[in-house]
Amino acid sequence: MKYHVDEKGYYGEFGGAFIPEMLYPNVEELRQKYIEIMYEESFQKEFHQLLKDYVGRPSPLYYAKRLSEKHGAKIYLKREDLNHTGAHKVNNTIGQILMAKRLGKNRIIAETGAGQHGVATATVCALMGIKCVVYMGEIDIARQAPNVARMKMLGAEVRPALSGSKTLKDATNEAIRDWINNPVDTHYIIGSAIGPHPYPDMVTRFQSIISEEIKWQLKEKEGKENPDYVIACIGGGSNAAGTYYHFLDDMEVGIIAVEAAGKGIDSGESAATSALGKVGIIHGCKTMLMQTNDGQITEPYSISAGLDYPGVGPMHSHLYKSGRAEFYSATDEEAMRSGLELSKLEGIIPAIESAHALAIFEHKKFNPDDVLVISLSGRGDKDLQTYIDYFKLA
Ligand SMILES: *Cc1c(COP(=O)(O)O)cnc(C)c1O
Repeated sequence: MKYHVDEKGYYGEFGGAFIPEMLYPNVEELRQKYIEIMYEESFQKEFHQLLKDYVGRPSPLYYAKRLSEKHGAKIYLKREDLNHTGAHKVNNTIGQILMAKRLGKNRIIAETGAGQHGVATATVCALMGIKCVVYMGEIDIARQAPNVARMKMLGAEVRPALSGSKTLKDATNEAIRDWINNPVDTHYIIGSAIGPHPYPDMVTRFQSIISEEIKWQLKEKEGKENPDYVIACIGGGSNAAGTYYHFLDDMEVGIIAVEAAGKGIDSGESAATSALGKVGIIHGCKTMLMQTNDGQITEPYSISAGLDYPGVGPMHSHLYKSGRAEFYSATDEEAMRSGLELSKLEGIIPAIESAHALAIFEHKKFNPDDVLVISLSGRGDKDLQTYIDYFKLA
């Protein structure tokens, strides 16, 4: 079984590039050049220099002693929460801004839901002095005011998406419309391991720095490169794809994905795509997605904005379908409890997305000598108000 993308842009039966004809030249140019550009010596040098000096990599691999004692396994946390801007998303936006420059583009567009990807994109555009337009649903603009302010401070223009449910999927539609109208000068920075080929593979390769570091860090700490399990939460699947990447073909490494069950898989308010989804096409790729019987995309729900996406990237659909990865889903309640537990046991307040990965202990028992690496995809500062309201902390 092959778990990496094939020449046609597929992971098993999933992936591909289902795009309007007007976008074909843009996507095709990227497809032809992305590997060559990405592995040029000058690109690698600039990418790694920025990851080091600007993002603060390598991110630590932290042995969580008290959490380990509590759950009876050797638990390491990959600290993506310590990156500049507070999550893993910047690994991808740094890579893509360098790609855009090599392609001669001088204008960036992006979509954002909660604003995390918008902030990560606005950040690298400020860094490079490149014009940035971020599309965001009108409802999300209202409920994510601090991130809207951040993007504006960083010099980005935030354009409201006024159609449909006025959330992420509508913002994505607006971004695609913009790209169709500005095919020559504009690069579209997609924020997860989703979209038409080559995006899922390109984003995954930029995020694969996570598992590249885990290998040598674990070697230093445990005397071996491979853990027994790698564990990550999945929205679109970019932190998970980066965490799994260098372990995909090592069958002794178990792969665990945790999705957001929201208020419960059967509650009608969920984002557990593997449990509820069917094969369909979303944002230019064939993958598992939540949809009605006539193929309309279902509005997802999760307490964590970053997992509130109705699909998963094509790599993850394949990992699920082929049985290579175990999929679980954690409810809002389980995630919030796990987020509080990490705060109390380790002094680390996680993003609520990352807290879903930690909620694996509500679902699976491990052996005491199992070595686990959990992707701590982001920090909880942005979620403080949600924690306050949920636990009545104020
Ligand atoms: C956006 C986000 C996620 C979900 O995105 P993926 O592409 O699935 O990784 C997870 N954690 C944090 C902290 C995020 O900001």
